[in-house]
Amino acid sequence: NDDDIKVCTYNESLKKQVARESEIEQYIKEGLEKDYFYLQYQPQYIIGDRKLRGFEALVRMKLPDGSIISPGEFIPVAENSDLIMDIDRYVRRRALTEFKEVCLNAPEGFVLSVNVSAKEISSPGFAEEVLGMLDEIGFPPGCLEIEITEYSFAQSVETTIFNIRSLREHGIKIAVDDFGTGYTSLAQLLNLPVTLLKIDKSLIDNIENSEMNRDFVKTVIYMGHLMNCEVISEGVEMESQLNLLGQFDCDFIQGFVWSRPLEYNAALSICDSEHMRYS
Ligand code: C2E
Ligand code: CA
Ligand code: CA
Repeated sequence: NDDDIKVCTYNESLKKQVARESEIEQYIKEGLEKDYFYLQYQPQYIIGDRKLRGFEALVRMKLPDGSIISPGEFIPVAENSDLIMDIDRYVRRRALTEFKEVCLNAPEGFVLSVNVSAKEISSPGFAEEVLGMLDEIGFPPGCLEIEITEYSFAQSVETTIFNIRSLREHGIKIAVDDFGTGYTSLAQLLNLPVTLLKIDKSLIDNIENSEMNRDFVKTVIYMGHLMNCEVISEGVEMESQLNLLGQFDCDFIQGFVWSRPLEYNAALSICDSEHMRYS
């Protein structure tokens, strides 16, 4: 009967999913040893004059057979175990090393942004580890931005706050990623030395069609500025979205409209041409 069939297909697809996840977990472990990971860098721009603000480092995984597994697939698997810590540590070391020279010569305000999972920012010793790595590499702390998500505040809040404060004391910037999709309480946010709000793509997607969305984005930008934060919109694909964000006084944008994520060398070459235009 029908019910049997449903149960059966459900089990089959669940089984497939579990198998795929353990396959990916295996690739991650292998990849950390054999270097399947590399980075792309997506430019962030100042909205008013299209000057370069900096880059977000985005991790990629390429298997020996040449196939690519997207971060949308392997990051969630890594987040179910401590593998995410190893990936993020690898990303930080590589990104900081690759951008050290650029940052040492960059104009004031230039940033390299890295993603940090909720698990890491809420672990004791995280800030120390980052500071140690900056010191070892010789990377200027003022050029590092750490992107956390609102889920970070759902974990051990005290440790998260402690880590954020320690990082801020050393000049490291803190961005709240995917802003507008989660459940950060305003009171909590006001208490934290966050420096940037990153408005999620899903809100930008509907900015033209939905008046409610438009008002919400406008309000987040206004509120961000009241909190002494700067505001960036991500996933901006169209000129029309750009125009609205400019009208709303958004500071920066990141999105396909001006650039996709770039290979390291391509990112370096836009620094050469665009740094000069920054200040
Ligand atoms: P995210 O941090 O929100 O990163 C932005 C994602 O949006 C990237 O996808 C980027 O390629 C994509 N994107 C940027 N502009 C546009 C646009 O205009 N249109 C569209 N359609 N997409 C755009 P990606 O690289 O696939 O990364 C997916 C997610 O994986 C990231 O979302 C982030 O949550 C996670 N991730 C990536 N790298 C890392 C990492 O090193 N550590 C951790 N913990 N997570 C990472
Ligand atoms: Ca991000
Ligand atoms: Ca995001």
